[in-house]
Amino acid sequence: MAAGGKTFIVEHLDEELGPWSELEYAAIANETRDAGGCFILSSLPPTFRVPAALASNGAFAAERRGVEELYAADKSRVCLLDPSASEDLSPDDGDKFDAFLFGGILGDDPPRDRTSELRKKGFEGRRLGPKQMTTDTAVRVTRMVVQDKIALDKVPYVDFPELKFNEHESTEMPFRYVTDQAGQPIMPAGMNELIQGDADKVVDDLL
Ligand code: SAM
Repeated sequence: MAAGGKTFIVEHLDEELGPWSELEYAAIANETRDAGGCFILSSLPPTFRVPAALASNGAFAAERRGVEELYAADKSRVCLLDPSASEDLSPDDGDKFDAFLFGGILGDDPPRDRTSELRKKGFEGRRLGPKQMTTDTAVRVTRMVVQDKIALDKVPYVDFPELKFNEHESTEMPFRYVTDQAGQPIMPAGMNELIQGDADKVVDDLL
């Protein structure tokens, strides 16, 4: 692992691995590998089948054990990214913590605070600002802050972007995203097509 590469743990909390989560996790695995870190998907049910996109990634590990068991001896080195934490994440947290923990939950609107399931376990928490992010965005921002040492308020964002599929179809995403150099929200490969497919399905169901 390259110097400074951190461990990013997503504790799987949803019943199953839906197509959205699969794309998010593949994006986390690829970006984490490229930045010299490692990505652990923890608390996986015995029936969990590791998708090919993750299985082939050398920085990825699938874990049946939960984060409490994995870090039983060193809980103070784990930081929970928690939308309700009283302190925002800062570059110095890269020295304080080795591992960063996220809820493996799909975003919901309004947010249902399922991160509370991890908060109860007593890990120290940090917020990534006031807006809900997708899990891959939350990992991306955390990496930029603790590894690249970019202050949270210097990360380029867009809130609630509108995805335009064609002249007549668009949808607003109720989350905050990091933007690329062209000012466009960074999303996992394949996500745009998946969202458009889901939107088309809703229309078909209405017909
Ligand atoms: N609606 C959600 C809930 O029930 O808590 C938020 C889920 S969010 C899609 C997935 C994970 O990303 C959260 O569990 C948290 O670890 C992280 N996250 C997202 N936005 C965040 C923020 N503004 N501050 C800290 N962590 C955040």
